[in-house]
Amino acid sequence: MGTDAGIVIIGAGEAGARAAAALRENNYAGPVTLIGEERHLPYERPPLSKAAMTGADEPTAATIMSEEQLAAHGIRHLSGVMVTEIDRAGHLALLDDGSRIPYSRLLLATGARPRRLTTPGADAASVLYLRTFSDALAMRAYLKPGIRLVVIGGGFIGLEIAASALDRGCSVTVVEMAPRILGRAVPAEVAALVAEAHKAAGVRLITGIGLKGIEAGCVVLADATRLDCDAIIAGVGAIPETGLAGRAGLTIENGIRVDGRLQTDDPDIFAAGDCCAFPHPVFDGRRLRLEAWRNAQDQGNHAARAMLGETAEFDAIPWFWSDQHGQTLQIAGLPDEGDATVTRDLGGATLHFHLKAGRLVGASAFGPIGNVAREIRLAEMLIARRAQPSPDALADPSVKLKSVLAVVPLAA
Ligand SMILES: Cc1cc2nc3c(=O)[nH]c(=O)nc-3n(C[C@H](O)[C@H](O)[C@H](O)COP(=O)(O)OP(=O)(O)OC[C@H]3O[C@@H](n4cnc5c(N)ncnc54)[C@H](O)[C@@H]3O)c2cc1C
Repeated sequence: MGTDAGIVIIGAGEAGARAAAALRENNYAGPVTLIGEERHLPYERPPLSKAAMTGADEPTAATIMSEEQLAAHGIRHLSGVMVTEIDRAGHLALLDDGSRIPYSRLLLATGARPRRLTTPGADAASVLYLRTFSDALAMRAYLKPGIRLVVIGGGFIGLEIAASALDRGCSVTVVEMAPRILGRAVPAEVAALVAEAHKAAGVRLITGIGLKGIEAGCVVLADATRLDCDAIIAGVGAIPETGLAGRAGLTIENGIRVDGRLQTDDPDIFAAGDCCAFPHPVFDGRRLRLEAWRNAQDQGNHAARAMLGETAEFDAIPWFWSDQHGQTLQIAGLPDEGDATVTRDLGGATLHFHLKAGRLVGASAFGPIGNVAREIRLAEMLIARRAQPSPDALADPSVKLKSVLAVVPLAA
């Protein structure tokens, strides 16, 4: 590379903002430009379906970096502008305000957007979606005590919104097409506990049935059941934001395809967070695309170092949490890799260990945060070390997980 034109980061969300800060933390002194389409300072999304819905006062965005912090780091933040094209040959990012920003290295941290329903009648006026702070403000305005809400989709976001809406005094029905809530990422036994918590709190859960159509004030199910309602919210998954990368000729494969360093097939372009699909070395190179807060942070950090020339592979263990009805659901690793499950009584919660040919590949639990968080953290460390712990030790609450960890050698 000749003179350093600087590093441009497209997407000022979790991964983009973290990467910008990490560049400075790793002593990069060249120009850093962080470009975001939303007219906000970088902010956290997890509160949008939780505190931003339930809090008594009008919420404010949970800012990741203040203007002062951006300035102190020497990060140029452009908000309310969209990058429309990448000129790879000219090393330029082209913006919708006509400006062109040169780069030596580029990071795509463009996130994901909600999948839209294609059900007849499901137009923008009748169905709400949640991804941004503006979406959260709009949604909150609907969730008044006594209103009848139908949530379509029993995934994390749908269920968190259901719990929050119930908290606000709404009457809530969740409709999930699959036979059970929470899909493949969450083991059936843990999903069943979450379903129980929703039912016990007063949410009506309908599973195993699709939609026929949406009419004014009514969701019609495939069996012609009519659910009269005042508001409809859909949480039916997210689609990685890959349009820009695709137009630039980068490979898209359930997200922007990157290698173990988070580098795309252009050596000067990297990707991080919800938008990218990467191979995971701890899971035999399985390609993953994660939609998880900590992954966005970890990948932001990693991409920053990779753009500065580090060659290490990204190998952080996936970890996800969700809060519903005052309890936490936490998952470490990849439970769906497992072929056997061992449970441990945590007293107030059950920890599920997922093993593949004797190796620990995942752990999951739903319960009070105090019971769950520390044990999941230890399980995560065992997964990172590719441990093959004795199932009897895992199942026995009198054997501390810390002592199991102590006898496992560090992974090569
Ligand atoms: C409501 C909600 C609740 C969540 N709760 C949890 C939780 O409890 N636990 C958990 O682990 N995870 C949770 N998540 C997931 C977590 O927030 C995401 O995984 C994380 O925000 C991903 O970060 P990101 O930087 O990849 O993408 P984002 O945070 O989505 O940021 C991407 C940004 O890029 C911008 N952008 C896209 N294209 C362009 C362009 N061409 N030009 C300029 N800007 C562009 C977008 O506008 C966006 O601001 C939640 C997500 C949501 C939406």
